[in-house]
Amino acid sequence: MLINPKYQVVKYWPLQKSPKIKYLTYGVIPFIYPTHVEVDVLFLILLMFFVFKMKNLTETFPLYQFQNLSRFSKLLHFVTTRFGGVSIAPYNSLNLGLHTADNTAHVLQNRALLANKIGIENDKILYASQVHSGDVKIIDDEAVADGILKTNPETDAMVTHIPGICLMVMVADCVPVLFFDPVKNVIAVIHAGWRGTVQKIVSNTIAAMKTNYGSNPSNLIAAIGPSIGPCCYEVGEEVKNCVADSFGTIQGYMIKQKESEKYNFDLWHSNHKQLIDKGLRTENIETAGICTKCNSDTYYSSRASGGITGRFAAGLCILKT
Ligand SMILES: [Zn+2]
Repeated sequence: MLINPKYQVVKYWPLQKSPKIKYLTYGVIPFIYPTHVEVDVLFLILLMFFVFKMKNLTETFPLYQFQNLSRFSKLLHFVTTRFGGVSIAPYNSLNLGLHTADNTAHVLQNRALLANKIGIENDKILYASQVHSGDVKIIDDEAVADGILKTNPETDAMVTHIPGICLMVMVADCVPVLFFDPVKNVIAVIHAGWRGTVQKIVSNTIAAMKTNYGSNPSNLIAAIGPSIGPCCYEVGEEVKNCVADSFGTIQGYMIKQKESEKYNFDLWHSNHKQLIDKGLRTENIETAGICTKCNSDTYYSSRASGGITGRFAAGLCILKT
């Protein structure tokens, strides 16, 4: 039910910064003014080289988008994969998590590559220090004046109305959730692992948007990104008890394995249910339905790698007009 075929890969490439266009311009000029055959042949070879190079670049740095958020031209949003970076195994290759044991220089280079790719300056991309809490941070004018963009705020959800700031959430099995309120022009990103999910961080974020910006949940557009699915997320008694305490039941939240007494936690349903309970409309919610453990060749998965791996990211930004 939650699988969404609309979630798709896009080759995001801002036109104003496109080297492809630059290279094509250089290549075409000699054909407009043909003087020597050798020069034309040389430029033809160069043109083929650059086109091949750009084709490779665009194919090796895929960014995924949700159909429901893609409708809004004022937004930039994306989900990264493992591809396009410089980190080496087991962090290969676009690891964006500085809190991993990867080479810090490689992670910083990966962040710079992403910034260049999406056309937003690195110092306008805000990565939180995620602490598996249920806390929400408002990135308002006061916070920016206090220098929050130069820090990594300790939080697992961030909300802002300020154009040009790209809010980022990093995951490797945990659930990235993105919100947009098209009426109040407010965005939010959420990192919801099992701890954040049972602390109802999704509900907390909606409450924070209502309190701080007057958001009406029925207007919110929500997207639930790739994360460990109910197919793979086996958990122990501690998590099962927390789910029962938080939601009042495990019915629908936990799935009993067929041939054992163990349970899998359905993070997708648990976060989707919070959205519905808070008043979002079903048609405004899009779930990627992609399990990171089943697809660990494309996405980082903590479970698939024994905990030693990188982080991919989901980002959301209101573009400056
Ligand atoms: Zn799976």
